[in-house]
Amino acid sequence: MVAQASRNKKGKGSRNFVLYTAIIVLIIVLLVVINQVQKKDEGQNDQFASAPSTESQPVLGDTNAKVSIVEFGDYMCPTCMYWGETIWPQLQKEFVDTGKATFSYVNVDFHAQPSVTGALASESIFKSHPDKFWDFHKALFAAQPTTEHNETWLTEDKAVEVAKSVIPDLDEAALRTSMNSDEMKEQFQLDKQLYQDFNVTLTPTIMINETKIADPLDYAAIKAAIEASLE
Ligand code: CA
Repeated sequence: MVAQASRNKKGKGSRNFVLYTAIIVLIIVLLVVINQVQKKDEGQNDQFASAPSTESQPVLGDTNAKVSIVEFGDYMCPTCMYWGETIWPQLQKEFVDTGKATFSYVNVDFHAQPSVTGALASESIFKSHPDKFWDFHKALFAAQPTTEHNETWLTEDKAVEVAKSVIPDLDEAALRTSMNSDEMKEQFQLDKQLYQDFNVTLTPTIMINETKIADPLDYAAIKAAIEASLE
């Protein structure tokens, strides 16, 4: 009788063990599945009905190109600077210099007033010295502090200093007046409308025609989207 009870207890214990093991295995399998579904979501490019309009925006490259690459960027954004130094040179060489794609830059202001200052300087130089725009654009990103994190480096004075380094005979007073003009605020407003229309929530955001690239630092994904648009 005693032995029987002990065996029953033992049998029940091992059944529980099997049950618990099964539950744990099931939980692990579920976690793996959920993780993969999330990964898939993160890696998914968004499709829009149309490409962002590049009217009134700086456009580099052959305007007859089939593909339009648009960067939504912010001069205050370190990842945008990184993108410009790592991804952009490859894209330029492979697709823009070869006439397959154009490149445009749209201003985003996710870092408060310093972003706005950078955007207004960018709009002003694009208007006054369109042939020097891309040099200024590159120089302003290069002016980001690399050693310490500084949320306010991009002042009007800094923008003027950078502009002068690119355009030695620059009329400083004219640039300052332009940066504070309603005309440039309206130009920047066009950019703001554009980034809102395309649900831009982080910078840089890269669009290849109507496709918004999930990971802007994934060169292979950008290249694949361009090649799909070229077909
Ligand atoms: Ca613009």
